[in-house]
Parts: sequence; C-alpha cells; structure tokens
Amino acid sequence: MADRYLHLTGTAPGRFLTRRLGLPQPAPLRRWTLETPRLEGPLLHLTAGASAVTGVAEVLSRSGLPVVGDTDRPAAIVLDATGVATAAGLGDVHAALHPVVRSLTPGGRIVVLGTVPSPDDHHQAAAQQALEGFVRSLGKETGRGSTVQLVRIPVGGAAQAAESTLRFLLSPRSAYVSGQVIELTTATPGPGPAADPAAPLTGRTALVTGAARGIGAAVASVLARDGARVIVLDVPGAREELERTADRLGATALPLDITAPDAADRIAAAVPDGLDVLVHNAGITRDRRLANMPADRWAPVIEVNLDSVLRTTDELLEAGVITRGGRIVATASIAGIAGNTGQTNYAASKAGIIGLVRSLGPRAAADHGVTVNAVAPGFIETKMTAAVPLFIREAGRRMNSLSQGGLPVDVAEAVAWFAQPDSTAVNGQVLRVCGQSLLGA
Ligand code: NAD
Repeated sequence: MADRYLHLTGTAPGRFLTRRLGLPQPAPLRRWTLETPRLEGPLLHLTAGASAVTGVAEVLSRSGLPVVGDTDRPAAIVLDATGVATAAGLGDVHAALHPVVRSLTPGGRIVVLGTVPSPDDHHQAAAQQALEGFVRSLGKETGRGSTVQLVRIPVGGAAQAAESTLRFLLSPRSAYVSGQVIELTTATPGPGPAADPAAPLTGRTALVTGAARGIGAAVASVLARDGARVIVLDVPGAREELERTADRLGATALPLDITAPDAADRIAAAVPDGLDVLVHNAGITRDRRLANMPADRWAPVIEVNLDSVLRTTDELLEAGVITRGGRIVATASIAGIAGNTGQTNYAASKAGIIGLVRSLGPRAAADHGVTVNAVAPGFIETKMTAAVPLFIREAGRRMNSLSQGGLPVDVAEAVAWFAQPDSTAVNGQVLRVCGQSLLGA
C-alpha cells in the first residue's frame, strides 16, 4: 500500500505545509540497488580514548568506503569507544561526535563500537552501558534518513568479528535499522569470508518458509541475489503463488505445511547435500482480546509461529541436515517485545522465538557450528499491514525514528546479513528492523 504522506512530504508545498503543522518529516530511504550498492561519501573513523580491540582500521579499510580522519561531509561515522571504561571517559564520546554529527550526509550512518559491559568492573559496565542510552537517543535526533547503532565486540577481541556486521550497517542494506545494539560473540567455527563478495552465498543452499509472498518472498529474492540456491516453502493451498515466486527467482518450490508431522523429513529429502541457511518466516495472526479468544484461535498461532519452528529446528539439527557453518534465522516481531492489544497469542509466539534464539544460539554454535538469530520486524508494508484500519496504520507507520514503514526487502537484507558466511560472531541476536519504533523501545 502506497505511503501517500511520504510522497506528500517529498514535494515542496507538502513539506512546507507539514513543517508548519509540526508533523513528521520522513526522508525517502536510500536502499541497496545494483547501481547504488554503497553509501556515497567518505567514512570518518574516530576514536574515544584508546581502543580496546585490535584491527578496527583494517576492517574499515575493507568497508568499500574511503576512510578518512577528517572531512566536512561524512556519509558514515564510526566511533571506536571500546576503550571507554569510566564515566569521565564518556566525555571523549561527546568530544568526538559533537563537532561532526551535524555534517553527516542525509541517509548517513553512525556506528559506535563498544565492548560488552563487564560483570566484574562496574565502572566499565556503567560507561559501556551508557553508550546504549547515547546511541538510542542519537538515533532519535539525527533525522534525514540517518541511522545510529552500537556494536559490542568482546573485550580484548578482534574487530574482524565485526566485519560482516559493519559491512551491513555501513551500507544502504540497513536503511530501516536504527537504534540497535548488536552484541558479538567470540567467533565460532565457520567457513570465513566469502570468495565472491558480490555473491557471498554462492554454493550455499537456503530454504525459506512462508515464501510464496510478502516478507518471505523478499527474503528468498535477496538470498538468490546473493548467490544462494533457494528453496521456497509454503502451504499447499498457496501452490500457484509459490510456483510463480519460484519461477521468478529461479528457485525450487516446496509446497508443504510446516506444521505437518513429517515436515523436517520432507525438508531433509529436498536438500540431499544438506541445508546451509534455514529461514523460519511462515507466520499467521488470529487476533482477538484474550477474553474473547477461543482455543481454536490460540493454538494455530502457537503451532505455526513457534512450535513448528522449535520442532523442525531440533529435528534438522539432530539429523545433521544443517551443515557446519550453517545459519538459522527465525522471525520474531516487535509485538513479541512490546506486546499488542488483541495479540496475546501472536506476541507470546514471537516472544517465544526470542527465547529460542537466545538459548539455542550458543549451544548450536558449540555442538553444530551453526548460528541462530532472529529478525524482529516493526511496521512493514505488506498485505498484512495494508489490512490494518487507516488510523492505526498511519500511527504504526509514523511511530518510529524514520517516520515511515519498512519494506519487506529491509527485513530480507537483515536476514542476508545473518546468513553471511563470515557472520560467525553474530549469534543469539534479535535484530529489530523497525526504524527504531517507539513501541517496546
Ligand atoms: P504474509 O501473511 O504475507 O506471509 C506469510 C506466509 O506464510 C504466507 O505465504 C502463508 O501462506 C505462509 N504460511 C502460513 N502458515 C504456514 C504454514 N503452516 N506452513 C507454511 N507456510 C505457512 O505475512 P508477512 O507480512 O510477509 O510476514 C512474514 C513473517 O514476518 C511472519 O512470521 C510475520 O509474523 C512476521 N512479521 C511481519 C510483520 C509485518 O509488518 N508484515 C511485522 C512483524 C513480523
């Protein structure tokens, strides 16, 4: 559904009028295209005090942007605040960013590098946790389609663990991600950086559930763009739409209800050489307030959104179908973080996904060399949100730092980042793709 307000504020009279009325000013987001694969402009590398991690400059030199120590028009700013370990040290964060923040180009990126707050040193923990409040506030201030994130690298670790994450955050692919905190682990075993950066998933097999349409079809499309051989799965009732999507992407269609008792076996049979990327995207809603919700509206939501995810994940991991270096990505929702009227069933299922990811991630890495992460979409422009009543839809669109809804491709780009061969240090994470929604913030 077209966002007419975004169109209106893109015209001179519309901008004039909405400014006078004090209404939100969404900036058109610059997303990845073949012609514009990178941000346009230099990357300003700043440091607050001494760095506590190695190799930041080296990793930034591979970001695809010219790295400078001084510029008046940065397209991206990376502030290394990993060494900030005291309240006084926070002054270095202010001193570094205060003079340059205004000069960031529209659609620019700010990434603050921090470390994990220490359980043994409360001064360091306070200073590093302070960065979270700082980043979340700056995300609400920057405007003009710019985004701000915090990436935590383990103390004493190497910035190399953050390479795929920085590549994503410092690119147009992360256009609808802002105000996020990403905590990296010490890298787990994996296949390392891709041989072909333009098609990093070449030679890998990916399966996306609920992929006939909407977000799932966008995920399948982005994974295919990145070189993966893709299998798209959806309910047999959506077979025609599924086959159309598969034909468009050069993918294989697998009509299958993910709640079927033999779903894992059927998936295993479709990937005789193993599965490298499993994306649990299928999801349903059956909204009603709890007092009016019969069990037959509760159960299918838990079954499709959570139980089938738990079951197929367990069975495919145990059977060794997911390869070492494999990636599992599940789909949560900000409803699972903030809660939502009429969605006790849906929010429970999506919060359950967050629990699954956080618990299984470290064990799957240790036992199988597999990472487990989730995306938590906010308001994404799909058939599902087009059906929401006008005023609630408008509120959903504007109640975030970017003052607009996201597109399915925004969620897909985040899934593709989790799926990267060198995203081995990204594990147990839940990335909100919500334009820094005010809900659950
Ligand atoms: P959608 O309804 O357009 O697509 C969901 C797909 O899943 C459909 O093609 C459907 O047939 C399929 N599906 C449902 N049950 C299935 C089953 N048992 N087996 C196999 N496939 C099944 O929804 P969407 O908006 O594209 O959402 C995709 C995911 O993102 C869902 O998990 C949803 O909860 C989540 N999400 C969406 C939004 C949003 O704003 N659209 C926000 C947060 C989370």
